[in-house]
Amino acid sequence: MGRRKKIVEQCERLMDEPENIRNIAIAAHVDHGKTTLTDNLLAGAGMISDETAGQQLAMDTEEDEQERGITIDAANVSMTHEYEGTNHLVNLIDTPGHVDFGGDVTRAMRAVDGALVVVDAVEGAMPQTETVVRQALREGVKPTLFINKVDRLISELQEGPQEMQERLLDVINDVNELIRGMTEDRDDIDDWTVSVEDGTVAFGSALYKWGVSMPSMQRTGIDFGDIIELERNDKRQELHDRTPLADVVLDMVAEHFPNPIEAQPRRIPTIWRGDAESDLAVDMRDVNPDGEVVLMVTDIGVDPHAGEIAAGRVFSGTLEKGQDLHVSGTASTNRVQSVGIYMGGEREEVDRVPAGNIAAVTGLKDAIAGSTVSSVEMTPFESIEHISEPVITKS
Ligand code: GDP
Repeated sequence: MGRRKKIVEQCERLMDEPENIRNIAIAAHVDHGKTTLTDNLLAGAGMISDETAGQQLAMDTEEDEQERGITIDAANVSMTHEYEGTNHLVNLIDTPGHVDFGGDVTRAMRAVDGALVVVDAVEGAMPQTETVVRQALREGVKPTLFINKVDRLISELQEGPQEMQERLLDVINDVNELIRGMTEDRDDIDDWTVSVEDGTVAFGSALYKWGVSMPSMQRTGIDFGDIIELERNDKRQELHDRTPLADVVLDMVAEHFPNPIEAQPRRIPTIWRGDAESDLAVDMRDVNPDGEVVLMVTDIGVDPHAGEIAAGRVFSGTLEKGQDLHVSGTASTNRVQSVGIYMGGEREEVDRVPAGNIAAVTGLKDAIAGSTVSSVEMTPFESIEHISEPVITKS
């Protein structure tokens, strides 16, 4: 069986275990390394080859090439990651890298429960970092931090351990100031500031594929001194082998981002203003796969064969082919032609997508990004607030 098929089958199994699902976005200022980090995660999850995987799959070139072509342009991807003996389904939603796409970034945030904020160690937090953190927090999406390009501090700027630590702390403090400012007055959010000690901060080099966090340093025994020495002596492959970035980041994702069962009870009251006592409200808070179907569409894409594809988060019920669903703002219903999940830029059709997952749906011809699609007529989700710098506007 091909690697891709195996991953699809694993993903399908995990879709029914919401406690092991993490719906996440990577959010960053342009050029801070989001694309390079995403490639690391895909390689770590076995979806594209890193150097070793490439050699092992030398016999498999055609399929491999195909997979590469598809996944390198990945928009939305699902991958699996084993953490503490349990397999997790990580659904990664892409967010546009440019500030002009502020609206799209916010829409993507509606579909996820965790945002991995990437900051370039040399540049530090930039205006767009602030924008994406704001967007995440406004949507009740929990942040963690990855400080990238640490190799440059060592090899280019020749910083010692003291200087490096000060610089990393500055980045963490800047991000925390933003988080504090956005969450202080909210009683639905606990302390969401990030810290090295808690394991909610990781740092490393997406380019050279190594990364560390407090838990990873404890596990591998690698400390700052080792990193500086290996990086300075050009032993980056060794650093990657001993402390691969994908594992460190995906462990952080599994450990620190909420699963849908934890996230939906908190998020539903802020994104949906319908009757909190209704069965529908309970089904959404409980991530009930047997409840009425509720899908929030966050993106419309076009497939040359299948036509328009609506992507979004299933908050309740189970999406299946043939269902007639109401589309908010229209009088008619649309029939679901197919349901699928994303594997790279490609859609994989599956039989059903239960609550708590990200789905790709065809047949919803009246849906637009932002539509509420449901098996019963319902109060639509709150419109999504677009934030762009420096002014904040409401759409
Ligand atoms: P994005 O715009 O956030 O998606 O950023 P990219 O992933 O495209 O990276 C922007 C540039 O930074 C590219 O030239 C990358 O090769 C480079 N880059 C990304 N990560 C690192 C890193 O860890 N170290 C160094 N030195 N360069 C990096």
